Amino acid sequence: MTKGMQAGRQTTLRERATVTGVGVHSGSPVTLTLHPAEANSGIVFLRCGIDGKDDRELAANFHSVTATEFATVLGDASGLAVSTTEHVLAALYALGVDNAIVEVDGPEVPIMDGSAAPFVAAIDQAGITALPAPRRYIQVLKPVRVSKNGCYGELRPHLRGLRVETEIDFDHPLIGRQTIEVDVEPYVFRDELARARTFGFMRDVAKLWSAGYALGASFENTVVVAENRVLNAEGVRFPDEFVRHKAVDAIGDIALAGAPLIGAYRSVRGGHKLNHAVVTALMADPSAWTYVESPEAVRRVRGHADLGAGLAAAAFGPDVS
Ligand SMILES: [Zn+2]
Repeated sequence: MTKGMQAGRQTTLRERATVTGVGVHSGSPVTLTLHPAEANSGIVFLRCGIDGKDDRELAANFHSVTATEFATVLGDASGLAVSTTEHVLAALYALGVDNAIVEVDGPEVPIMDGSAAPFVAAIDQAGITALPAPRRYIQVLKPVRVSKNGCYGELRPHLRGLRVETEIDFDHPLIGRQTIEVDVEPYVFRDELARARTFGFMRDVAKLWSAGYALGASFENTVVVAENRVLNAEGVRFPDEFVRHKAVDAIGDIALAGAPLIGAYRSVRGGHKLNHAVVTALMADPSAWTYVESPEAVRRVRGHADLGAGLAAAAFGPDVS
């Protein structure tokens, strides 16, 4: 696909593509199929295989977020939920897919190898095609910031596309402080981010299991960090795989704004909860953003608005998903 086509018109998938795996938290087998969708439909999760019930749709939108503790969960008032949406959403966003149906036959997107790479491969297999409708962007007009307990996330104006700046600081000899700054372009996502896997600490495993989480976690889908080493036989894929994965998570969560962003997102010691709070804070302030059809249509930038802790729900402790 040419850059001009990406910039001007909405896209969808050319064909279907299917992946199978297990849910990292449920441990249950699940099949995910990406389908083409019409212009202006956005990304929609289709939950099928519910006992005795019809298939149900859930828009991939920040309004649908019902939990952010260990993954980003979308749900509705009836209790329908699709968990661990962030990696497939990051791949769709970064590769420029505006409209798609993400069909899953269980309550959780398959974790695959813990990274976004299998979803990139699925999108590549399906192919991307342009639709006869203009793409609409969300342009950030002024900084919007949410902070709590030394963690913060901020969206600010940016000239073009989405830029993601992520910083983590774990009190652990293998991780410590790591930063990454990327412009989210398809080739950057493929080369720099897509292969970075989910990680977790051995010391947290018993606690997670007893709470009913991470039941499907294994060396096949999680970088497992012990006191002074990574337990996976293959080691890490990048020395800073941890912060790269955090950037993937941020892109997947930002995708829930519902349209491509023209803005820069900075996350310091954050996670899904913080990402969601910042997107929600942006969209709640009509003076902080506008829709534009051309990514080059840069608007005047206004002053700074610090939302402080007022909109921050619970604690923004670093999460490991
Ligand atoms: Zn993740």
